[in-house]
Amino acid sequence: MKFETKVIQPGHKPAAVHDAVVVPIFQSSTYHFASVGVHNGYEYSRSGNPTRTALENVLASLEEASACVAFSSGMAATDAILSVLVPGDEVVAARNLYSGTLRLFESIYGPRQIKFVYVDGNDPETFRKVLTSRTRMIWLETPTNPQLQVFDIPALAAVAKAGKVPLVVDNTFASPYLQRPLALGADVIIHSTTKYISGHNDVVGGAVLTNDAWWTEKMRFFQNTAGAVPGPMDCYLTLRGIKTLPLRMRQHCENAQAIAEFLHAHPKVSHVYYPGLPSHPDHALARRQMSGFGGMVSFDIKGGKIAAQAFFDKMKVMHFAESLGGVESLACHPQTMSHAVLTEPERIAAGITENMVRLSIGIEHPEDLIEDVRQALG
Ligand SMILES: *Cc1c(COP(=O)(O)O)cnc(C)c1O
Repeated sequence: MKFETKVIQPGHKPAAVHDAVVVPIFQSSTYHFASVGVHNGYEYSRSGNPTRTALENVLASLEEASACVAFSSGMAATDAILSVLVPGDEVVAARNLYSGTLRLFESIYGPRQIKFVYVDGNDPETFRKVLTSRTRMIWLETPTNPQLQVFDIPALAAVAKAGKVPLVVDNTFASPYLQRPLALGADVIIHSTTKYISGHNDVVGGAVLTNDAWWTEKMRFFQNTAGAVPGPMDCYLTLRGIKTLPLRMRQHCENAQAIAEFLHAHPKVSHVYYPGLPSHPDHALARRQMSGFGGMVSFDIKGGKIAAQAFFDKMKVMHFAESLGGVESLACHPQTMSHAVLTEPERIAAGITENMVRLSIGIEHPEDLIEDVRQALG
């Protein structure tokens, strides 16, 4: 079945719910037992809920995974993966992670004697060098936030395989429409479904996907035991958003390419970060492992923080807001917003300057977006 058809599949057997075409919101915390130990597959909605099952089934099919375990946020999904670690374990991670992921690593797991080693994601050889007998996973995010670096998943999967450690990929920025890490050799995928997957800036959620039986069992157990589950309404909204994922992604890519090219030629812009530009250092790699370059565009504006501030103040169509991946275009100032949790030296090391602007390009008409950027830069 093609991707565009998979997103429309209901994720449940229609006959089970009065032949409804759309999966209902099963707003029930508990389920009837027919007799002692006899029930219809569901007992209590932390352990399982039919709307959540439908979401998990659809997401698994999109990522070509045998299992999907849904969580109440991307951070809860990230936490679930890290929950398998014990004191003394090590994680090797590609630099330039989502700042919330870095905060979870360093302020929750760091003090529990988990060691995080950060290396340049563009250099698979350095990963090989830092693996030790205590390394339990390799973690990467591609494309990265906010520089849109692209890392070679097959090359890093080969390093992980040789080192007998699983490769975890945060696929939030690409979405399964543009990139399928399991097919490229990764073992575990984490998603913030808040972003492209739900796509409408109206719900927070996360998911872990895998083909590995050990990981499936661990994630299911953690989902039920720690309990950071998405509610049925959130699962419904996410399922509803998924149906237009291919349409949205195609428009995000088309609009972002147009904006990136406009910015690239603009005299007030000193640098544009977009893997769809031939000048981007990972352009060829992105072309190889992704089926499109995504909807995120970052750029450095000439004139420092004052120029960046003026840009945000003048925007009329794009919203000045956190988050990304929705139909509405959003602009953010990484230094004071998405990456505010980093220390100043961490931000400098990550290349986040005061004059950097990150755009999450929505699906509005590209001419209106270009006009907004043009007048805001003026
Ligand atoms: C937003 C985001 C997360 C965290 O997800 P939440 O749903 O906000 O908890 C993790 N990774 C990436 C790449 C993100 O963009």
